[in-house]
Amino acid sequence: MTRLTRRHLALGLFATSAVAAAGGIGLALAPSDRAVIVGAGPAGAQAALALRAAHPALRVTLLERDPTRLARETGDAAAAAFVPPRTEATLSRLKAQGIEVMLDDVTDVDWTAGRLSLFSGRDAAFDRLYLAPGTTAKAEAIEGLDAEARFAMPAAWGNAREARRLAAQLAALPEAGHVVLRLPAELSHPQVALHRALVLARRIAATRPAARLTVLDATPTPALAQSFAMAKRLQGIDAQVAWITAAEGAGVTAVDARAGRIETGAGSLRADVINFVPPHVAGAIARTAGLVDASGWCPCDARGRSMLRSDAVVLGDARKGTARTLDGARLSVAATVAQA
Ligand SMILES: Cc1cc2nc3c(=O)[nH]c(=O)nc-3n(C[C@H](O)[C@H](O)[C@H](O)COP(=O)(O)OP(=O)(O)OC[C@H]3O[C@@H](n4cnc5c(N)ncnc54)[C@H](O)[C@@H]3O)c2cc1C
Repeated sequence: MTRLTRRHLALGLFATSAVAAAGGIGLALAPSDRAVIVGAGPAGAQAALALRAAHPALRVTLLERDPTRLARETGDAAAAAFVPPRTEATLSRLKAQGIEVMLDDVTDVDWTAGRLSLFSGRDAAFDRLYLAPGTTAKAEAIEGLDAEARFAMPAAWGNAREARRLAAQLAALPEAGHVVLRLPAELSHPQVALHRALVLARRIAATRPAARLTVLDATPTPALAQSFAMAKRLQGIDAQVAWITAAEGAGVTAVDARAGRIETGAGSLRADVINFVPPHVAGAIARTAGLVDASGWCPCDARGRSMLRSDAVVLGDARKGTARTLDGARLSVAATVAQA
């Protein structure tokens, strides 16, 4: 059973759905075309396999900048709860299917020439480009929120090093310590945020029963607070939790990471551990490629075709208004498959 399946059973948080397997994938490919996919997360890796299955003669290249992304599990149990689930498409599986995997950072897209510029100085030609770059943190104008503060108050939102730092900070939490989870108004992954709040509450209950958790939830509706209250009760999590909503002043106005202090509309808080989640937008290369609108996300039709460039396809979390879960990523590939 995969880690995600266990989570489904334990929490029921991530809606399951029947997702079609590969078929063919989009926008009229010729047999000898070169299809290039940017991003080897669940969406990009699945798309590479779908393309290969549908078009055996197609040249398929998958570009990924993070060498750990397709590696085997590292087995850091304490941090595992703070990292996204891995794609089922491992490096060996991709290679066995004849997919070329290139480790590089795509820095620019020349749509006219059909070329990608890569950080290494290389470039890559494409006939059809699929962008699956996931998300990136959005800068916020909050007093005191500099690089040092972001280091001390890890988001652990897709970054394995931050996940390990957060886990280490929780392991060092004083007996009656205080943990703060900050959630921004524009929350990219509501279900992940709910899961995070439950993980923190469970960890405190299990390891520091005298400690407490405060959730600063600046999202505009009480939906998350209500889901948390229900899940906490159903799961019998016996932790002291204060949930502060936007209406109660959850918005953060300033931070002092060294002092562990957060200024909010509800007053000043002191914490031993701060899990500071920023708002996110589509991965930066989507903006560079001209696929992002004012919302920071990629507007697409149901099949992933960009509304800003009809020859571009966007998959996974980067799309505007999508469900940012594994099933959402898989569905985005399956829907694109129908275009072949
Ligand atoms: C902490 C956390 C926990 C989660 N837990 C769950 C869960 O339990 N269940 C669930 O269903 N969902 C979960 N999710 C959501 C799920 O992980 C995402 O919906 C899914 O990973 C989206 O896949 P993706 O391929 O679109 O993007 P990503 O997984 O973000 O992959 C994008 C990839 O693109 C690469 N990339 C970006 N830009 C470039 C570039 N310029 N050049 C080269 N490569 C680039 C990145 O390095 C990355 O590997 C979680 C998310 C987070 C943040």
